[in-house]
Amino acid sequence: MSSITRKSATEIAQMRRAGAIVAEVLARVEEAARPGASTAELDAIAERHIRAAGATSNFKGYHGFPATICISIDAEVVHGIPGDREIKAGALVSVDAGAIWEGWHADAARSFYVGEAPPAVAALIAATRAALDAGIAAARPGATIEEVSGAIEDVAIAAGLGVVRPFVGHGIGRAMHEAPQVPNYRTGRKSLTLAAGHCLAIEPMFTLGSPEVGVMDDEWTVVTVDRSLAAHFEDSIAIGTGGAELLTRP
Ligand code: MG
Repeated sequence: MSSITRKSATEIAQMRRAGAIVAEVLARVEEAARPGASTAELDAIAERHIRAAGATSNFKGYHGFPATICISIDAEVVHGIPGDREIKAGALVSVDAGAIWEGWHADAARSFYVGEAPPAVAALIAATRAALDAGIAAARPGATIEEVSGAIEDVAIAAGLGVVRPFVGHGIGRAMHEAPQVPNYRTGRKSLTLAAGHCLAIEPMFTLGSPEVGVMDDEWTVVTVDRSLAAHFEDSIAIGTGGAELLTRP
């Protein structure tokens, strides 16, 4: 596992800039995600902001992905494609965004409810966010990826939620997806021990029902097979000597 790169302070500074742009994009998209806004309009807001900041999108064109951000609604988990569809009151919206600054990547996601969330949906959103925070808190020098995964999984177990398993967190840096993988569940396998300079994107995806997912006919959108609601939170972090630095929160 020696191939997993550790970033220098200068490199992390570039990633911090990429992360700040992603945080701004997510805030702007969430603010604009009102009933009647189309998901294509939200995508255009993200594209304009990334360009104006002097960055580029790492999602657009990635394996042919046609948009700047992913917007996944209700039972959709990740990789939803923006288009004509309008945001409606009562929607659970997940937005995943990324940016490249001077060759360095950042990647983050947020889920939110349009309107007043029913208690079970509010609990799903809160637990997924809490799991991200638990994973980040566990991501310290000397800790293993398995410990990060376990901290995330424990929040889902306590909340009685499903953990989506085919999609996992990842290393990040010169590429959006680098080694190591960061599963949202314990694998029982030997895993990397974290050290200062390791950079990760941690991204729990939890469901209210079955954790099983499939891919829709557009060959991108990942959806729960039982059509239960799903939430997704993600941040890019840099491991420092004392713990994790959040690169994608203001
Ligand atoms: Mg990611």
